[in-house]
Amino acid sequence: MQTPKSTELFQRAQASIPGGVNSPVRAFRSVRMKPLFVSKAKGCKIIDADGNEFIDYVGSWGPMVLGHSHPAVLDAVKSAVENGLSFGAPTQLEVELAEQVKKMMPNIESLRMVSSGTEATMSAIRVARGYTGRDKIIKFAGCYHGHADHLLVKAGSGAATFGQPDSPGVPSAFAGETLIAGFNDLENVSQLIEEYPGEIAAIILEPVAGNMGVIAPVAGFLKGLRDLCDREGILLIFDEVMTGFRVSKGGAQELYHIVPDLTTLGKIIGGGMPVGAYGGRLDIMEHVSPAGDIYQAGTLSGNPVTMAAGLATLKELDKPGVYEDLGSKAVWLVNEIKDIFENASVPYRIQQVGGMFGFFFIDQDVNGFDDALSCDTERFIKFFREMLSQGIYLAPSAFEAAFVSLAHTEQDLEKTRDAFKTAISNIL
Ligand SMILES: *Cc1c(COP(=O)(O)O)cnc(C)c1O
Repeated sequence: MQTPKSTELFQRAQASIPGGVNSPVRAFRSVRMKPLFVSKAKGCKIIDADGNEFIDYVGSWGPMVLGHSHPAVLDAVKSAVENGLSFGAPTQLEVELAEQVKKMMPNIESLRMVSSGTEATMSAIRVARGYTGRDKIIKFAGCYHGHADHLLVKAGSGAATFGQPDSPGVPSAFAGETLIAGFNDLENVSQLIEEYPGEIAAIILEPVAGNMGVIAPVAGFLKGLRDLCDREGILLIFDEVMTGFRVSKGGAQELYHIVPDLTTLGKIIGGGMPVGAYGGRLDIMEHVSPAGDIYQAGTLSGNPVTMAAGLATLKELDKPGVYEDLGSKAVWLVNEIKDIFENASVPYRIQQVGGMFGFFFIDQDVNGFDDALSCDTERFIKFFREMLSQGIYLAPSAFEAAFVSLAHTEQDLEKTRDAFKTAISNIL
């Protein structure tokens, strides 16, 4: 694989942008490589600056569930653009997207659009604190909720990759309001609640963790959290920025039949444009300004081009059979991967929920962050490089999810299967 243009662009980028990238994981540091610069993408394929083509399992880190450059989404964006880019005034598109989200996620009675997942979780927590009059929150080790100060504690994704769970610049007083529990460890959550009676505003989690690899909730975990929250007057926040419209039509809350008080969204809801949203119970959301007095605002919130892309995406996803199709693609591939790893006698664990999956090179079950961190990252690095050289673009870290899109065809999946087979035999 020749990459002179990417190499040159990366060199240029480093002179003007910290680390050469606008979001850390893009830099390929955890696989000790240089990033590929992408020039275009269509369906499940991305093409780099040098013309190399890859089958993509990153999907812009989640949003591209329909595949890249989906005609319905591009058409919607084009016609929105014709009408102007931003007005700072309400538009019909915002109302339509809000109604579409409520239809697909009926636990959301009222919602506010923002411009990123980070803003969504940050705002949802402010609302939870304002509503309950309490300051502390519980988050789970390895869950990533964006880069807001009080959430950048034991965070997954890029923060996990670099082994720096905390960041300089986060005041310890802020981080001190964030209590950390082990994912899937209900006992741990109970202990924290006992330790800080009446002080906890919210429990926030990824209902299926997708930023420390993919870790599903064990039976009873989400229900147990719901019960604890009800008993203690704590708000339960499902961060479905990744899992929303990914693990099922109505997200993890539909899949596991648990009703959170607040939900945060992002990624898919913007169809590839910058977006976030938070919403939930009407009696809570009515405290958000200007209906109530909890302040939150955004110059570009509900941007018409973003709303058009999101609405077109959700309309496609709302068609019958879509999630059966997405799920069966993922299940097929995951079963093939299991066969390959079994036959090669490689220790592994793999988890799949709806259109996302993740595997670890490891010899023990993975239910939380510490488990995940003990996987064989060196083996992953070798494997990742082999896959890339065979035209398969996985996330460049052992602690990220892989995303299947509706655009992955049988042929693409078979090619991926063959690449797994070759890659594993090449590294053993
Ligand atoms: C990606 C992600 C975020 C952050 O969203 P940004 O748009 O990158 O700010 C928050 N929570 C989860 C679960 C995510 O996967």
